[in-house]
Amino acid sequence: MIMMHGQALIDRLGDRLAGLRGRLTPNAEMDKITWFRAGGLAEVLFQPADEEDLAAFLKAVPEEIPLTIVGVGSNLLVRDGGIAGFVVRLSAKGFGEAEIVSPTTIKAGAATPDKRVAAVALEAGIGGFHFYHGIPGAVGGALRMNAGANGVETRERVVEVRALDRGGNVQTLSNADMGYAYRHSAAPSGLIFTSALFEGFAEDKTAIKAAMDAVQNHRETVQPIREKTGGSTFKNPEGTSAWKEIDKAGCRGLMIGGAQMSPMHCNFMINTGTATGYDLEYLGETVRTRVLENAGIRLQWEIKRIGNFRPGHAVQEFLGQLL
Ligand SMILES: Cc1cc2nc3c(=O)[nH]c(=O)nc-3n(C[C@H](O)[C@H](O)[C@H](O)COP(=O)(O)OP(=O)(O)OC[C@H]3O[C@@H](n4cnc5c(N)ncnc54)[C@H](O)[C@@H]3O)c2cc1C
Repeated sequence: MIMMHGQALIDRLGDRLAGLRGRLTPNAEMDKITWFRAGGLAEVLFQPADEEDLAAFLKAVPEEIPLTIVGVGSNLLVRDGGIAGFVVRLSAKGFGEAEIVSPTTIKAGAATPDKRVAAVALEAGIGGFHFYHGIPGAVGGALRMNAGANGVETRERVVEVRALDRGGNVQTLSNADMGYAYRHSAAPSGLIFTSALFEGFAEDKTAIKAAMDAVQNHRETVQPIREKTGGSTFKNPEGTSAWKEIDKAGCRGLMIGGAQMSPMHCNFMINTGTATGYDLEYLGETVRTRVLENAGIRLQWEIKRIGNFRPGHAVQEFLGQLL
């Protein structure tokens, strides 16, 4: 495991961090909090107590120190060399509330699980949130990724997003400001979303419940949801599905080290037990290379890869082949 100097970073900032109420963890093991259960250490993990605490932290940390925001890690591949600087993860206690604010709108903190948003919507008879029942992330990740399933995307439900910028100032973004596209938001990358207002529509509770059950039943049968995975590895290219191209290129079940393209759903990459971040990324780039050779399609990663490579273990895009 790579050495990190998290305590030295905390010591260097000294009094600046003294008043914070959240938890600072030096050399935090990211493999404990990502769905892949792989990857290196965060130099320092900060879990703010609430939005005020997060603002104080952002004001206290000099701009030149890198800062990475993570959610519950269901779409993250952390590289084995770890993440320099601070990793911020919002705590469920300070950011995990979801409440009904009108007959069709819900306000949810960024650490609220998507499933909880779906459950709150069901209780209130608000339709349009059943798709969240099947997505294992939290609201912050859904806002950043424009998470979607079953023909619905986050962008269809977002009214307004509250965020803090790198200086700790509150920003309010409209749906248009979020710059949504397929699994993408063009909102400035330094923003930390803290809550959002969502709008659905009045719907019969029985119908909502049936839609949620259908979402879950479908997933149980077609996705390896009990595995250590990051969900869909690649975005669907124009006019085709990533899994079809992966299958056609002969990569269903392909293994590198402990990483495998799931035999059940071949756009899902899984950690079979011993995969490192290197194994997972190397497997992903191998698949990209084979699909490019086979069909001339350049698959784009949907999974976010963060952190540094372990020295001597860099993985190049398309394995460095000029195709
Ligand atoms: C079994 C399985 C099934 C899945 N199915 C789907 C699916 O059907 N549809 C789908 O869209 N996704 C799916 N995913 C992927 C994943 O659940 C979503 O992308 C989810 O929205 C990620 O949320 P998260 O909290 O885990 O974010 P993370 O994975 O921790 O982070 C993802 C990105 O969001 C950013 N981010 C997180 N929180 C914040 C915040 N507060 N402010 C700013 N940026 C933030 C991070 O910086 C990172 O860039 C699946 C994953 C798994 C493991």
